[in-house]
Amino acid sequence: MNHVLRQLPAIHELKQDQRFINLLEQKQVSLDKLTEWLQEAVSDIRQGILTQMIDLDNLKVVGMEEAIFSTVSERISHHCTYKLRRVINGTGTVLHTNLGRARLGEKAIQQATETAYSYSNLEYHLEQGKRGSRHELIEELVKETTGAEAAMVVNNNAAAVYLVLKALAKQKEVIVSRGELVEIGGSFRVSSIMEESGAKLKEVGTTNKTHFYDYEQAITEETAMIMKVHTSNFKIIGFTKDVSISELKPLGNEQEIILYEDLGSGAIYDLKRDGIGQEPTVSEALQNGADLVTFSGDKLLGGPQAGIIAGKKKWIDRLKKHQLARVLRVDKMTLAALEATLKEYVNEETVREKLPTLRAILLSKEEIKHKIENFLAPLSPVWVTELRDEVSQVGGGTMPEVELDTKILLLSNSKIKAQTMHEKLRIGVPAVVSRIIDEKIALDFRTIEESEFSDLHKRLQELEQEMR
Ligand SMILES: *Cc1c(COP(=O)(O)O)cnc(C)c1O
Repeated sequence: MNHVLRQLPAIHELKQDQRFINLLEQKQVSLDKLTEWLQEAVSDIRQGILTQMIDLDNLKVVGMEEAIFSTVSERISHHCTYKLRRVINGTGTVLHTNLGRARLGEKAIQQATETAYSYSNLEYHLEQGKRGSRHELIEELVKETTGAEAAMVVNNNAAAVYLVLKALAKQKEVIVSRGELVEIGGSFRVSSIMEESGAKLKEVGTTNKTHFYDYEQAITEETAMIMKVHTSNFKIIGFTKDVSISELKPLGNEQEIILYEDLGSGAIYDLKRDGIGQEPTVSEALQNGADLVTFSGDKLLGGPQAGIIAGKKKWIDRLKKHQLARVLRVDKMTLAALEATLKEYVNEETVREKLPTLRAILLSKEEIKHKIENFLAPLSPVWVTELRDEVSQVGGGTMPEVELDTKILLLSNSKIKAQTMHEKLRIGVPAVVSRIIDEKIALDFRTIEESEFSDLHKRLQELEQEMR
């Protein structure tokens, strides 16, 4: 063993090696850093030899220097690839919370990039030449697309809910039906947010049934608000009753009680017209009598992460002035992307084509089949392929009952197990997230765009090469 250890080259010699010079020329890391990693690599290998973790015969075949430099290369690629990176979503779930929810539309990406690149009038009134407000940038658009009297934007919908409760109901009572006290994926729990805000939760009704008189009887001097929560990823079926905002309207009117609805997804485009789901649009919720509504920017809306608060000007003005509004404010890139996303809704005919979220939800099974056929045309014959009817989900806690008819591609190969393939696809670049069905790789092309085909082909070719 000692004679092997003696073969470990000195650092100053390794630094003269062409492989070291090549790594340095790639300019991914500084000379100091590269030297440090070189020292670490040598020390790791020494350690490996001493603890007999490294197979000496194998080391002889590979060569000492080569082993050192490949350790250094691994370290470089580990440190120099991004932790947050692109994923090809083969799950068919359009708003996959773990995969970043909505993909942005073309214009939103352009606007966010331009705003990042340049200075902007984020808080500067160009006409008047003085300080402006970032709220104004999108307020008009939200009003136009939802019919709201006023609006503002915060960091996400959870923040929007928190701000509404804290600013308008702190130390007062908020009436919520027991059937709506939900926990939504990603640890958003209505009762916890309420507690955190200092508002007092007053539960009414039962899990399956809440009646008008439950709300009516719960009202006291202390009541600030009646809150309705969209139950999103949870549905009670069967013997149920809930009370709609329009039915609750008289309670709000009489006593200056705020009728607030947390819509969760907040659709502006009405998917009901295409026969998809029962999701109320934001403007319907407001027309039905909600004084305030909150919803996410990156769910059905198809924009960046944001929480939009819309409704009566009187309440929105109070919210804008609250200290928390400053804490929860959104940055310029989000506002740029949100403005561009909302702008697409001004043209109802083109929005379904322009926004990837709507486009993916509205794809028909035939269109998806056609996509798969295009994908398959140049695919190598080593793959056994099969098309199968399946359903995809909208995701993001949105419309859990909706099943979108789809076609999936099943891929298999006698030389490689589905599980191995699944893992390799996930770990490589770009990452591909697939499912396994019947010991085959399943890809739902609802969420794979034609622009991603060449990368997906490339990843499959890599697998083929490994199989040889
Ligand atoms: C998704 C959701 C939230 C949380 O929204 P985020 O944008 O994830 O913060 C809150 N309420 C409801 C009803 C939801 O569906």
